[in-house]
Amino acid sequence: MYFNLVMIGPPGAGKGTQAERICRAYGISKIATGDILREAVHDKTPLGQKVKETIAAGSLVSDEIMIGVVRERLARPDALRGFILDGFPRTVAQARALDEMMEGRGPIIAVVMSVPMPELVRRLGVRRVCADCGATYGGPGSITESTGAGRCTKCGGLLVQREDDNVDVIRQRLRVFTEATEPLVQYYQGRPTFASIDGLQPPDKVTADLRAHIEAAMAVSRAGGRAET
Ligand code: AMP
Repeated sequence: MYFNLVMIGPPGAGKGTQAERICRAYGISKIATGDILREAVHDKTPLGQKVKETIAAGSLVSDEIMIGVVRERLARPDALRGFILDGFPRTVAQARALDEMMEGRGPIIAVVMSVPMPELVRRLGVRRVCADCGATYGGPGSITESTGAGRCTKCGGLLVQREDDNVDVIRQRLRVFTEATEPLVQYYQGRPTFASIDGLQPPDKVTADLRAHIEAAMAVSRAGGRAET
């Protein structure tokens, strides 16, 4: 089954964890714009140099740059068989651009994961990432794995705090989400393929809800195209 899933939610809502699970369950490519940018920063590419400071400050990279990155990524063969977008769109302008890119590619299934602010602050404060492979720990679903010796269970790399997971930057990123990204909920919510999912539930229940919504949204779109983007 192929589908185009867009995951919206504040930092710490569990988008990355859930996107990974959905990717494994359905064999559909996960595209996380934060990962693409961090890799570019790490590799010191021209893109990385342009976005480094913006990421460190917890602000949004420009729509122009992000739309270009995603347009290029969605044109690759694996993404033609559907995709799971984690972290894009983050503004209404990005959502409009994505709709244009989707012409002839089937409907978008949009989900927003909601989690109360104090819990987001808590989760981001304890989150650690592997310095080598980028795997995330301490977020929903991986708390037990992170309590080991501070090493990645996948590759043995050192677990570190993401530069933008410090208290000041966390607050800025949550502010940015409220101002720029929350309006996306209004943008998508009239569509039959939209759902809001309670991200405070246990991770397995969140995954089950997501899967149930994906199956239902696909049935709606097969039933008569009412789910067209
Ligand atoms: P994330 O890993 O999704 O939390 O993204 C990390 C950072 O990358 C964000 O705080 C932004 O600075 C930048 N970023 C990622 N995706 C986008 C996007 N769609 N639009 C603007 N900035 C983005």
